[in-house]
Amino acid sequence: ESRRDGENNIKSFEESSRPQILYNIEIEKALVTALNQEELTLVYQPKIDLKQNRLEGVEALLRWQHPQIGTIAPSDFIPIAENTGLIHSIGHWVIREGCRTWVRWQRTGIRPFTLSLNVSPLQFAREDFVDTLQSILLETGMDPMFLELEVTESSMLSYEASTREKLTQLHQLGILISLDDFGTGHSSFSQLRELPVQVLKIDRSFIVNLFTDRNQEAIVRSMIQLGHNLGMKVLMEGVETSAQLEWLLKESCDYVQGYYFSRPLSETDVPFHVKETTTYLEFEKR
Ligand code: C2E
Ligand code: MG
Ligand code: MG
Ligand code: MG
Repeated sequence: ESRRDGENNIKSFEESSRPQILYNIEIEKALVTALNQEELTLVYQPKIDLKQNRLEGVEALLRWQHPQIGTIAPSDFIPIAENTGLIHSIGHWVIREGCRTWVRWQRTGIRPFTLSLNVSPLQFAREDFVDTLQSILLETGMDPMFLELEVTESSMLSYEASTREKLTQLHQLGILISLDDFGTGHSSFSQLRELPVQVLKIDRSFIVNLFTDRNQEAIVRSMIQLGHNLGMKVLMEGVETSAQLEWLLKESCDYVQGYYFSRPLSETDVPFHVKETTTYLEFEKR
């Protein structure tokens, strides 16, 4: 009896897992093609400086335009790219493409603004990360003073001496570091204090229930104060309503990002939003 059960279990496990394995291999193969066939693109979501009431910069977000499937979101392929090692070529492409685009924007004569790039923990962990980045800066003409890297807690807080060294080197180049998805990882206060990070990006999950749960307001308020007490700027992502914006203004949040202001934009739409300055805080006039 029990042996039969065992056999059945093994059989059903194999049957259920096989399509997923095939699916991942297919995606991996298709991703290699995507890189070579230029199916990857970047879209750019504005970040708003609340004190200056203007666009502070844009965050580059990766999209995969598959010829048959259509647009594929990063959460559907970045984990696979990380498991297969493809993340290194993809990450390199993102930095290069982002920097080239920034230089093209500057050539149109608009004021300079910050370009933020997301960096995978695996990409950041590479020993040659800073060298590679520097060669892309040289090749493209990107000004490091306008480059920001978004790194997650998991890259920073697998806390080795080399992490600190890399962050210090980046800082010396004039590059800003922001801690993305803050609040979802497990950073300790002592680690946070020691990291050369300039911006805390509070994860979107914290604003979703801001007004439905009274404790949530206390938590987000404390996160903003923590950032400020450590000498950092604080950005809230995923802002979708004017009520959320008003609350964040009251709590002295520095920067915001979210659908309330703008969805991610194409390269050609970005300059229009850079010139626009007065519409962001429109609700104040009501
Ligand atoms: P993230 O860096 O935290 O980016 C924020 C995500 O929230 C983006 O999703 C953005 O489109 C979405 N978002 C922004 N505002 C709102 C809003 O008001 N409401 C809602 N519901 N969503 C909003 P996206 O583009 O799908 O990216 C998901 C994640 O994929 C990113 O999270 C980032 O971790 C990763 N990612 C994106 N591009 C890259 C990349 O070039 N390299 C790496 N390594 N990861 C990337
Ligand atoms: Mg990000
Ligand atoms: Mg984020
Ligand atoms: Mg996030």
